[in-house]
Amino acid sequence: MSALTAVEQRAPGGWQIATVEAIRVETPRVKSYRLRPPLWMPHLPGQHYEVRLTAPDGYTAQRSYSVASSPLEEGVVELTVDRLDDGEVSTYFHDVLVEGDQVEVRGPFASYFVWRGESPTLLVGGGSGVVPLMSMLRHRRLTALELPMRLLYSARSAEDVIYADELGADAVVTLTRSAPPDWNGPTGRIDAELVARVAYDSGPAFVCGTDPFVEAATALLLAAGYSPERVRTERFGPTG
Ligand SMILES: Cc1cc2nc3c(=O)[nH]c(=O)nc-3n(C[C@H](O)[C@H](O)[C@H](O)COP(=O)(O)OP(=O)(O)OC[C@H]3O[C@@H](n4cnc5c(N)ncnc54)[C@H](O)[C@@H]3O)c2cc1C
Repeated sequence: MSALTAVEQRAPGGWQIATVEAIRVETPRVKSYRLRPPLWMPHLPGQHYEVRLTAPDGYTAQRSYSVASSPLEEGVVELTVDRLDDGEVSTYFHDVLVEGDQVEVRGPFASYFVWRGESPTLLVGGGSGVVPLMSMLRHRRLTALELPMRLLYSARSAEDVIYADELGADAVVTLTRSAPPDWNGPTGRIDAELVARVAYDSGPAFVCGTDPFVEAATALLLAAGYSPERVRTERFGPTG
């Protein structure tokens, strides 16, 4: 490949074939995929990649997936995918893709939903909405542990908590559907009391999840004194 071609194909513009280096089971419905694209470039925590599947008849399906890893993990992009039973692309990831396979990706894509070291930072995630927030949390742990950052994370049950072993003291997890008998954290949906526990007087809040989750969490943040400019949102809803 000539140098010019390599530049032309360089992320984020060009599609490239990444190798699935490792697959980790996070929860019964969620797996993480460590991909190695040939033309890797560092992402900003919060950015996403696009994945494209092409059937033998030429039919394609394309979806966005946030990067979960820190950009300091050179050469690697970790995507975390929630399996939707009637989904096209998420079921392919879960049911078909194995280590060593190849998958077409492009990215990383810029958006205003990126953490550039602002502080203090509040992260609010629902379900798989925690994925881009994990990239922020991981990157801050690797680069600037002294910067205050808290995660408020809503999951259905203890077994649905993604990255459970890594969350640590920076995270408040609330379980909305069921909690084990020994659970001593909060239960139920994120509410004003929980937001008051984690809110900061300054700095941004990053909110990610389904449409209704983002709406509800944003309303709570505004009611808690966050100005609209401090709240950045990313919605994982159906792509239509
Ligand atoms: C910027 C961005 C980043 C994203 N990052 C992630 C990520 O890190 N991890 C992740 O798992 N997903 C992420 N998503 C969602 C992802 O792009 C797909 O929408 C999702 O995986 C479903 O695709 P599918 O082909 O499996 O389902 P589809 O075939 O598109 O849909 C199947 C059914 O599920 C419904 N549906 C589709 N998406 C959702 C959803 N998100 N929640 C509830 N119902 C849905 C559809 O209406 C349909 O009924 C992100 C989306 C965006 C826009």
